Amino acid sequence: MPQEIIKDIQFKGQQLKTATPAKMWIQSFNEKEQKVRAIKTLLKFWGIAALCILIPIAHFLLVPLFFVMGIVKSLKLLHKAEDGLYAEGSCPSCEQHVKLTLENNAELPQWIDCPNCKQAIELNK
Ligand SMILES: [Zn+2]
Repeated sequence: MPQEIIKDIQFKGQQLKTATPAKMWIQSFNEKEQKVRAIKTLLKFWGIAALCILIPIAHFLLVPLFFVMGIVKSLKLLHKAEDGLYAEGSCPSCEQHVKLTLENNAELPQWIDCPNCKQAIELNK
């Protein structure tokens, strides 16, 4: 099972350079889990490619597309050990407590708009 890790990070405002402490939830995969995840993704895309064979004309485009996408996506996952889940803290601009969805991106720094005041928040170490 992938491990859930909580990291201490900072939220920084765009105009105000004040930083507020925040927390970031990450899902961490070991080498074996990374491989399993990559293979599952590959099989999923190739399954879709196989189903597309049944669609007349469109299969000339869809089958190679899903075949190649499966390889590209699984290679990416193979080298990705961390998934960003979400981050929580106070927005430096509006000082409201916000929860930001990270869409599997665990890289720092990254910028996300505050759902409350729409100002960009910099997530950093
Ligand atoms: Zn805000």
